[in-house]
Order: sequence, then structure tokens, then C-alpha cells
Amino acid sequence: MGVVKRLIRRFQRHVCITEPKSLWKRYAIGLAFIFVTIGAAHYSSLRAIAASGLDAEASRISNQQIMLSQRILFLMRESEQNPSLEVEARLLSAIQLFESAHDWLVTRQELTPALQQLYFEDDTFPLDYFSRRFVETARYAVKAEGQVRSNMQNRLVALGQQDLLSALSKASRLHQDKSRRQTAWLQNLETIALGSALFVLLLEALFIFVPAQISVSRAIRRMERRSKQLSTSYETLKARNLELVAARKNLTHAANHDALTGLLNRRALYDFLTHLKAAPNGSDIALSVLKIDLDRFKSVNDTLGHKAGDDVLVVVASILLAQVRENDLVARIGGDEFVIVVKAPKSMDTLEALGSRIIEEISKPMQIAENVCKIGASVGFTMASSAVATPDQLLIEADLALYKAKRGGRGQVFAYSGDLREEIETREALFEEITEALADDQFEPHFQPQLYTGSGKLFGCEVLARWRHPRRGIIPPATFLAAAEEAGLIQQIDLIMVEKSLDFLERLRSEGKDLPSVSVNASPDSLRDPNLPDRLAQEVLARGLSPADLTIEVLETTLIESQDDEAFLTIRNLTSAGFSVVLDDFGTGYASMSNLSRLKFDGLKLDRSLVEPVPNERAESIIAALVALSRNLGMRVVAEGVENNAHYDRVKELGCDVVQGFGIGYPMPAAQFIDWYEEFAKKDKKRPA
Ligand code: C2E
Ligand code: CA
Ligand code: CA
Repeated sequence: MGVVKRLIRRFQRHVCITEPKSLWKRYAIGLAFIFVTIGAAHYSSLRAIAASGLDAEASRISNQQIMLSQRILFLMRESEQNPSLEVEARLLSAIQLFESAHDWLVTRQELTPALQQLYFEDDTFPLDYFSRRFVETARYAVKAEGQVRSNMQNRLVALGQQDLLSALSKASRLHQDKSRRQTAWLQNLETIALGSALFVLLLEALFIFVPAQISVSRAIRRMERRSKQLSTSYETLKARNLELVAARKNLTHAANHDALTGLLNRRALYDFLTHLKAAPNGSDIALSVLKIDLDRFKSVNDTLGHKAGDDVLVVVASILLAQVRENDLVARIGGDEFVIVVKAPKSMDTLEALGSRIIEEISKPMQIAENVCKIGASVGFTMASSAVATPDQLLIEADLALYKAKRGGRGQVFAYSGDLREEIETREALFEEITEALADDQFEPHFQPQLYTGSGKLFGCEVLARWRHPRRGIIPPATFLAAAEEAGLIQQIDLIMVEKSLDFLERLRSEGKDLPSVSVNASPDSLRDPNLPDRLAQEVLARGLSPADLTIEVLETTLIESQDDEAFLTIRNLTSAGFSVVLDDFGTGYASMSNLSRLKFDGLKLDRSLVEPVPNERAESIIAALVALSRNLGMRVVAEGVENNAHYDRVKELGCDVVQGFGIGYPMPAAQFIDWYEEFAKKDKKRPA
């Protein structure tokens, strides 16, 4: 069963079905078949027609033989009765005709077995033999004379009248039969040719046309399917391609834009500046870069949350876009840093005006959700001095100018100049020098004494940092402090001062000298470090001292500027750890009473600028008010900048608890301070208790 099925399948596969490609083979075979069939039919027909012509002729001739044999007998009798040359000639001609007709009959055609039998193989009367004897006898008789002739004639009559006649009649009948059969065969042949032609056509249909049709329609279906697939895959490809294009667009957009504001980002800014075709040297057009930094942005973030901060940035972005022209570029390159690139006629005034407009717009109160925010901005700008300025160069220049603007007290526009670069370069050199100085232990504390106004006794001393430079000598903090802060090195300096001053205090105590406390300055960076209280506690305890021996001076600006929660927390922890914390430089203009309500301070240090004008009525009434405020809050008041007796007397009268100033003592190196201390102690002993 399986075998049969397999065979059928194989037959179908190899015979019924073929690829359109190889159809030509079948067509060739089919054509060859048709040619062969037509050729064979034609050949057989020709052969059959020729054969049937011969048979018809043979039938006619064999009929004629009967007639001729009778004519020979008749003429033989005639020539006997009326011998004449003419009769004799006719007789000879008849004999001749009979003979040649016989020859024709036995040689010119293929004899059927019956005819063969009749002519040659009959036992009693082989026709061929007797026909030839008949001819011979007739000829002989013609030539003979008298009795011989009549004997011959009788013999001839006997032969011709009886057996020959019946044999010839039989032959004629056989020839007729043969001829009839040949005609019938010819008719059959026609039918066979027609049948075989139809058969060939059937075979062609079966093995060529049907498989061809099947294979062609299969191929067409396959092609249709494939073209459908192709078109659907083309559609999907097209769709995928569109998606890709869109995705790439999005990606490029995301790669080049700030997600929050939609402005270009730092990378796009660099690209733009790099590929910007700079105006040729000598052209009237210049490329300018403005850098904008927001003031008090951090406090919005800290007090109103990051969502509000984001909203502020979006508003600022729209302000900047509104202030520039279409060809200018606005980018956000950092938290609250923006850059504008302007291609405009060279004019410092125009740029300065643009910067001022921007500051003015940004400084207007902004409605952010339910809150009104007030921020500000500083702007630094630079104009490309040559066509070859690199993006880095331009951005650094704008940054330097911005830096200067911010240091100049915020809300300002500042232009870059060559001097500024020098200044900054000096600054950078200073950074490096400070780093080296730290490694080389070149920072040391100087001590400035502080006295109680009431008893005149020693309250303690303020520790002030000094840089003992190997070549330049003693350098004051004003020269290096800001740089150290910028370089992130101030915390280290603060800590060195703490360690060295505590060492100093420990040493004095061990020598039996009574220095009640040391007061160190803490930078905003130090105060933002949550580990500061622990660290200081460790330093104090390690030397057998107590936290009460250490006062920490906090600059008022630290708290105003940053609204720093971390600093607030650190201060709170310092107080609860037992350290004394005082608010330094109080009254320098940023005085914020809210800080006093939020935090518990042990004291206030009135800024030198308040003491300096004394004696002066206005200044004194401010001091009096601040003293009253401090009393109420349980804080002592330290007056700084007490340079002379007038200062001393007035601040004492006004109620300040402690004084500090050149009038009492300069900030002194350790050894010198000890000398001062001994001098002071001697005088102190003499003082009435
Ligand atoms: P400050 O904390 O207000 O320190 C007092 C400054 O006033 C000192 O300047 C001192 O020399 C000066 N001074 C004291 N008495 C008088 C006076 O009678 N008349 C005048 N005209 N000046 C007087 P100095 O030492 O140059 O310190 C400047 C500032 O540097 C300090 O101001 C303080 O804020 C900061 N500073 C000093 N040392 C350190 C430190 O170790 N760490 C930190 N973070 N800041 C420090
Ligand atoms: Ca101080
Ligand atoms: Ca001060």
C-alpha cells in the first residue's frame, strides 16, 4: 500500500508536475511525438495506397488473363479455319500479352499465401506452371503445321477450356479479394491514424498540457503569494523605517535638548559653537557668548521643592528666548546655568544691555504655583576676539566674566577682558600653591585675645588663620581664603586651625596658664559637613578638654546665603554637643532675625563696622538695641574692632560682654601670644579683684 502510494506520489511529482522552467522539455517530446505519428501515418498511408493500387491493377489484369486465354483459343481456331498472317499476328500478340501479364502478376506484387499456393504450390494444378505451358503450347501450335498443329490445338483447348480457366478465375477472385482487403485496410489505417493522433493528443494533454497548466498556475499562485508577502513585508518595512526615522529624530532631539526646558543642551551648544562658521577677521559681525547663572535658585529648590525649582527654570527659559532674536541660540548647560550665543554687530553696549534686560526680567517676581518667587541672575559675557576662538575658550571666558559678576555682588553683568584672565590665572596658580602649602604644613593659627568688659579678665582668644609663605612671609586670610573656598580646601584649613589651637590650649593649660577658651571660625563648607560635631568632639576629648572650651564662629552670611538645612542641623548638633556657637559679623547688612529665632546661639559678634564709628549716636543706638536683643535671647555680645579706649569704654557702657580688637591685642603667633599672656597675667594679678 505504502509502496503504491509512494509510486503515485513519485509519479505525480515527476510526471504530472514540473517546473515551468522545464516545460520546454515536455513540449519538445510532445512535438517529436506528433512528428513521428504524422510521419508514420503518412508513410503507412502512402504504402497502403500504393499497395491498394497494385492490388486493383492485379485484380484487373487477372480478369484480363481469363479473357486473353479465351481469345487465344478463339484466335487459334480462327487461324485454323482462315489462316492469315493478320490472325497469326493477333494471336502472337495475345500470347505475348498473356505471358507478360502473367509475369507481372507473379513478380510485381506480394502474393498472399492463397495466391502463392494457387500459383506455385498447388499439387494438382500450379497456375504458374500451367500458364507458362499454355503459352509455350500456344506458340508451338502457331508455328506447327497440319496434324501437329491440330493436336497442339486440341491440347491447348483442353488445357484452356478446363483447368486453366477455373484456376485463372480462382486467381482473379483471389486478386479481387486481396484488392478489397487492401481497400478495407486503407480505411482502417485512416481510422488508426486518426485514433493514434487523438491518442497522442490525449497523451499530450495528460503529460504536457495538464501538468503545464498545473505547474504554471502553481507558479502563478506562488508568485502571487510571494508578491503579497513582499508587499506586506514592504509595508512593514516602510512602517518600520518610518518608526526608525521618528525614533532617530526623537533620539537626536533628546540628545541635543534639555528635557525640562526644551532648550539646547551643553552638547548641542558645543556642536553649534564648533561648527559655527565664524565671521572672517575684520568683519563687523562678532560671535558673543553670554553665560547666565541664577541667584537664590537653590533657596527656591530648598524651600518650595524641586517641582517649583523646575517651574522656575522653565519660566527663565522662556524669558531668555523672548530676549533673543531668532538666529541666536539659547542653551541650558547645567542646573541653573544658561548660555546664549549671539551673532551680532560688534558692540559691547548692546551685549551689556541684553545682559541687563535679562537680569531685570528674571528678577521680577515669578508666580510659581501658589508662591511668588523672587530670584535673580548674574551675567558674564565675552565677544570672540578672533575668528579662531574655540568653544572651550569662549565658554571659559564667559564663565570667568560670570564668576567676576557674581563675586562683584550678584545681579550684575560683567564683560570678559584679558585682565580677567590674568586674574583668574593667578587665582588658579594660587589654588595650586594652597594645595602645596597644605601638604607642607604652612598654615598656622594666630591668636587674638578677647576680654570680659566687666572684670577685664581674659575671656579667650579668636583663632585666625595665617599662611606662613616660604618666600612671601605671613599672608592674611583675605588673600587665600576665597581661593581656598573655591578650591574646596577651606575645610582642611578650618580643621588644621582647630587641631593646632586645641594643641595650643592643651599646652597652655598643662603649663598652668589659664586660657578659658579658643574661638575658631567655621566656613560654610565645614558647617555643611554633618560629621563636624562628632569630629570636633573627638578632637576636644582626645586632648582631655571639654566642648565648652571651644567656640565656633558662624558667619551670618552662611545662613542667609544658602538657607542651608544641613548647616542649620550641624549648628544645632554643635550646640547640643556642648560647644559654644556664636554668630559672627552680625550687623554687616544681611542681619536676619529669623535665624535668631530658628537657632539657639550662645553669642553675637558685632561687626567691626558697627564699632568703628563709635563714639557716634546712631551707631551706639544700634549697638544698644542689639545688646538688648541679645539679653532677651540669653546671648552674650562680643564687640569686634575695639581699637582704642573710646571704643572700649563705649561698648562696655552699652553692655557688650566681651571685647576684641587691636586695642586689646593683635592676632599673634603662638609664642608671641604666650608673651602677651604672661604680660597680661602679671597686670591682671595687680588688678584689684
Ligand atoms: P573675623 O572672623 O571677623 O575675624 C576678625 C578679623 O578682624 C581678623 O582679620 C582680625 O585680624 C581683624 N581685626 C581684629 N581686631 C581688629 C581691629 O581692632 N581693627 C581692625 N581693622 N581689624 C581687626 P583676619 O585675621 O584677616 O581675618 C579675616 C577673616 O578671615 C575673619 O574675619 C574670618 O572670617 C576669616 N578667617 C580667619 N581665620 C579663619 C579660619 O581659620 N577659618 C575660616 N573659615 N575663616 C577664617
Ligand atoms: Ca571670626
Ligand atoms: Ca567678625
